[in-house]
Amino acid sequence: NPTPNDLSAFWMPFTANRQFKKAPRMFVGASGMYYKTADGREVLDGTAGLWCCNAGHCRPKITEAIQKQAAELDYAPAFQMGHPKAFELASAVRDMAPEGMEHVFFTNSGSESVETALKIAIAYHRARGEGARTRLIGRERGYHGVNFGGISVGGIVNNRKVFGSLLTGVDHLPHTHLPDQNAFTRGQPEHGAYLADDLERIVALHGAETIAAVIVEPMAGSTGVLMPPKGYLERLREICTKHGILLIFDEVITGFGRLGSAFAADHFGVLPDMMTTAKGLTNGVIPMGAVLTTAAIHDAFMQGPEHLIELFHGYTYSGNPIASAAGIATLQTYREEGLFENAAALAPYWEDALHSLKGLPHVIDIRNMGLIGAVELAPIAGEPTKRAFTAFLDAYEKGLLIRTTGDIIALSPPLMIDKAQIDELFGKLGDVLKALD
Ligand code: PMP
Repeated sequence: NPTPNDLSAFWMPFTANRQFKKAPRMFVGASGMYYKTADGREVLDGTAGLWCCNAGHCRPKITEAIQKQAAELDYAPAFQMGHPKAFELASAVRDMAPEGMEHVFFTNSGSESVETALKIAIAYHRARGEGARTRLIGRERGYHGVNFGGISVGGIVNNRKVFGSLLTGVDHLPHTHLPDQNAFTRGQPEHGAYLADDLERIVALHGAETIAAVIVEPMAGSTGVLMPPKGYLERLREICTKHGILLIFDEVITGFGRLGSAFAADHFGVLPDMMTTAKGLTNGVIPMGAVLTTAAIHDAFMQGPEHLIELFHGYTYSGNPIASAAGIATLQTYREEGLFENAAALAPYWEDALHSLKGLPHVIDIRNMGLIGAVELAPIAGEPTKRAFTAFLDAYEKGLLIRTTGDIIALSPPLMIDKAQIDELFGKLGDVLKALD
């Protein structure tokens, strides 16, 4: 009988997972901070799955909520009918959200949250008689998921090239990562806030009356853990407000405690008009996302002028009962165990442990905020990504899961981590880096 490892040589059912094909590895179990491998080893989860299992793995409260809901009400149509759990979760999300985020639209992923937010932005302006506002602005090195809108506003140039012209009327702010100025900076870099002024250049070029929204990750995660310079998000907020442009924070990674507060908007003290979320909403256990909006945006989207009343929006699985039950139990777990507070309290210890890697071979930068961190390695000439991938494989053998993006190692453990596990994580990672060619 072929094993899954044999099958993976020619079959890949879940993602364009080319690195898996080169070296198949599988998890067969998980509990708390650790995964279990097929050969019975424990692997410390340094990445909360894919930045999503913020409460840790196989948490009993969440598991039980899913089991109970599956036995009680498995599905309710998302149109014409409803069910109480979706409202309960929406209220809990709203209670946790920053000021002004009054309404919640459920989706099934981060990518869908992004598409939904971009649609809502355009519909909002249209409902207010500003139908020319269709232009969308992202940022280089931003990541907003795998669908057409997200790729278009996203800042991964190769993704945009492969798929042709994508959405029209999209511009990109320059990215804010200035390695010469920011190397080994702890927290937010001092320099680079002026890059937000590029938004004024785009406004002058096209006219504010054509621009619907700006979307940015408050802290860019998937493209390498890039901190916003001090004052950058504040400046974007100012310029958007001045010109009637909506500001969308993509909080798919930063939401639900990663930076030590519920959302990055709280952490930076900058309020957006909309937020996209997913991942930590259900602890990564069941696919679910949510778009949060102000009351004004919700009302315009829902009520709008005549031509919008029939506007069709929603997914078959929007606010699915089992996902909603998982979300409710997840948010309760965050609250009862004080996990956001734990992330905030441990952040300085995490920062010191992470920065102790400075000086190890090939390490050219270290970045951190809350319980997130990045170690950037010098690429091998002509073989980008190889050095970090080697580190990934070695870390796995040593019992540590890390994530790599290019030659950057990204770290984002479950928020239930303790000091001994932080020591274990950086002890193992230090050994990996010392052994790197
Ligand atoms: N936005 C951001 C900021 C993300 O980090 C991600 C996923 N890493 C997405 C959107 C897409 O989310 P999903 O993979 O759930 O579609």
